[in-house]
Amino acid sequence: MRIDTDIAIVGGGMVGASLAAALEPLGLRVLVVESRRPGLPGQPSFDDRSTALGEVSRRIFEAIGCWEGMADGACPITEIHVSDRGRFGQARLRAREEGREAFGYVVENRRLGAALWARLESGGATILAPAVVEACHAETDGVRVDVTSEQDQVEVRARLLVAADGVRSGIRDRLGVGVRTWDYDQIAVVANVEPGRSHDGVAYERFAESGPMALLPMPGRRCSLVWTFPRDLSEAVLSWTDERFLDELQNAFGFRLGRFQRVGARSSYPLALVRAHRQSVDRTLLLGNAAHGLHPVAGQGFNLSLRDVAGLAECIADDPGMDPGAPDLLARYESWRQSDQRATALFSDALIRVFGNPLTPVRLARNLGLLGLELLPPARAAVARQGMGLGSGNRIPRLARGVPLA
Ligand SMILES: Cc1cc2nc3c(=O)[nH]c(=O)nc-3n(C[C@H](O)[C@H](O)[C@H](O)COP(=O)(O)OP(=O)(O)OC[C@H]3O[C@@H](n4cnc5c(N)ncnc54)[C@H](O)[C@@H]3O)c2cc1C
Repeated sequence: MRIDTDIAIVGGGMVGASLAAALEPLGLRVLVVESRRPGLPGQPSFDDRSTALGEVSRRIFEAIGCWEGMADGACPITEIHVSDRGRFGQARLRAREEGREAFGYVVENRRLGAALWARLESGGATILAPAVVEACHAETDGVRVDVTSEQDQVEVRARLLVAADGVRSGIRDRLGVGVRTWDYDQIAVVANVEPGRSHDGVAYERFAESGPMALLPMPGRRCSLVWTFPRDLSEAVLSWTDERFLDELQNAFGFRLGRFQRVGARSSYPLALVRAHRQSVDRTLLLGNAAHGLHPVAGQGFNLSLRDVAGLAECIADDPGMDPGAPDLLARYESWRQSDQRATALFSDALIRVFGNPLTPVRLARNLGLLGLELLPPARAAVARQGMGLGSGNRIPRLARGVPLA
C-alpha cells in the first residue's frame, strides 16, 4: 500500500496527538503512525502518571478542541507551596494574587490520552495504529517512510516527517542526530497517595534529603506524587511495603496534609536532561521528548512541547509557500522556539541543582531565596509566570494566547 501525505507524524503520544489536533484546521493531509494505542500495556505517554498543565497549555488545548474532553477530570492548582525540609525557607504562590483562577490543572495521563485520541479519531487525520515506522529516507522534495502495520507494509511519502517518537527516538538515531545528556543519577518514583486532609488545590514542591518531590492535587482527596531518589536507592525504594513507603513519605513531607492513608501502584522513571544536537534534518523535525527531555519535578516538559506544537502549527499556517517541510520554514521554527526551550530547561535544571545541593552555604542561600520569594510580590509573579508557561520572554504562539490559526 502507498500513502501520499503532507505531514506524517510518527508517535501518537501526548505530543504527536496534540500536533495532529493543532494542524487540523489548516486543511493539510496529516497521517499519524502509532505503535501502541492508548489503553494498551507499555504505552509510554498514557500510563498511571498525572500531568500538571500550565494555564498556557489549557489555552492551547482549548484552542485546538481538546480541553473539553479532559476538563471534567482536571483539578485546578490554586496555590503552589515550596519548602525545604527542616529549614526556615518556604514560599506560597497564590493564583488569586496574580489575578487568576488557577496556575494550571492536573490531569491523569490516561484521561489526557482518551481525550486526545477521541479528538484524533473524530478529526480528519489518517491513523495507522498499531503500526511501526521501520525506516525513513530523505528524497528531493519529501521523505519516504516505511511502515509495518498489522495488515500491510505501507510506503508513506510525506513533505514533512515529524518524529514525536519519544526520548529513545528511532528516527533521531536513523538520522544520525546525537543528543547531549546530563544524567541526574536519580529516579522518579510516581504514585497516587491519599492524605488525611483535603489538599484544597495546593501543589507542593518539597526538597528533602533524599531528593525533590512534587505532590499535585487531583480530583477528590487524592494527590499525585513524584518523588526523586538517588539511582542507587531505586531497588530498595521500589521494594518498600506500602506501610514503609507511607512512613518515609510522612517523614519527608511532614503533616501539612495530615497522615497519609493510602498509596497506589508505584512506578519509576530514570531522570536526565536531554537535548538533541539538531531538531531538523532534511524535511524531518524532532518534537517532544525526541527533541528535549527535562527533570519532571518542575512539571515543564510536556508544557514546553505543547508550546512547540503551537509554534510549529503557526509557522506552517503562516508559510506563503504552502510547503510544510520547506527547510527555511523549519529553520524559522527552530530559531523562534530556541529561547523558550533554553529558558525552560535552565529553569527546571537550576531548580533541581540548587535544591539538590547539600552544601550549607547553598542551603542557606536558597532558604533566603525562598524567604525573598515569600516577601516580594514581583519575584512571586515572575516565578508564577514561568510555571504557567508565560515566561519565555519571546513571542508567544497565537494558540498559546487562545487565538485560533484558521
Ligand atoms: C514521572 C514524570 C512526570 C512528568 N510530569 C510532567 C508534568 O507534570 N508536566 C509536564 O509538562 N511534563 C511532565 N512530564 C514530561 C512528559 O511526560 C513528557 O514531556 C511527555 O510524555 C512527552 O511525550 P512524547 O509524546 O514526546 O513522548 P512519548 O510519551 O514517549 O510518546 C512517544 C510515542 O511514540 C510512539 N512510537 C515510538 N516509536 C515509534 C515507531 N517507530 N513507530 C510508531 N510509533 C512509535 C510510542 O508508542 C509513543 O506513543 C513528566 C515526565 C515524567 C517521567
